[in-house]
Amino acid sequence: MTLTLTFWGTRGSVPAPGASTAYYGGNTPCVEVRTSTNALLILDAGTGIRHLGRQLLESARDKPIVAEILLSHTHWDHIQGLPFFAPLFQEGHEFTIRGAPEALSGIEHALRAQMAQAVFPVSFDAYRAKVHFRALGEVEHGEGYALTTHPLRHPGGATGYRITGGNPGAPALVYISDNELGHAEGYASAPEWRDALASFARGASLLVHDAMYSAEEYERHRGWGHSRYEDVVDLALDAGVQRLVLFHHHPERSDSALSEWVAACQQRVREKGGRLDVRAATEGTTLTV
Ligand SMILES: [Zn+2]
Ligand SMILES: [Zn+2]
Repeated sequence: MTLTLTFWGTRGSVPAPGASTAYYGGNTPCVEVRTSTNALLILDAGTGIRHLGRQLLESARDKPIVAEILLSHTHWDHIQGLPFFAPLFQEGHEFTIRGAPEALSGIEHALRAQMAQAVFPVSFDAYRAKVHFRALGEVEHGEGYALTTHPLRHPGGATGYRITGGNPGAPALVYISDNELGHAEGYASAPEWRDALASFARGASLLVHDAMYSAEEYERHRGWGHSRYEDVVDLALDAGVQRLVLFHHHPERSDSALSEWVAACQQRVREKGGRLDVRAATEGTTLTV
């Protein structure tokens, strides 16, 4: 049972359109996941979801669109595309917004607040599609997929997702956006947190992970909730994943700089004697798990 994922938004923090980011993309996080039964999961609702919405409407041809929208957390870059997701404004479609149980009421509050009149002309209640909010259980079994979660180290908290195509032994996609692998004060996580995270990602066919900083940049942003790419490569090697996709690119990172990072990551893998395919998330690209 395979999964396919398509990157609609790869950029962290704020949209970064322009000539220097055109290749890897300037939209904030949104990943489309399709199961072998064509069920639709949408990971995060950054500005990339606007393009996904247009494509869904074109291919639906008046049939209902049904999807689960899994939010890692409610920082702007992960929810700001939702008011521009056109299927929400049409009757007949149905969306279930999912999040960790402890985060769900905060998610609904944030999604409504970003459409308050002071900051947006149209209220959340203007949506014509059916919208549900539902907490994620420990293990979720949906149509053609199984899903588990893991808490991440990020100010205010965030959730990582492990998705397999139906049974637990099937190849896994692990999505970890907005996570700080380096040491910083202020997180309540236990010392064994890093080992638990490696177990969560163990043997994944594909790991998508926040890689926002270089080592030098990280020293100026410790505690901001993001990772330097060296730590991400090390996690992927420790977890024995097959493919690593750098994600949540810094808005100032040019395409050429990002390509150099991919080469540096591949070099690190060779130096450590590991086997790992490394690439950077590219808007519009589809991968199969
Ligand atoms: Zn983010
Ligand atoms: Zn965040």
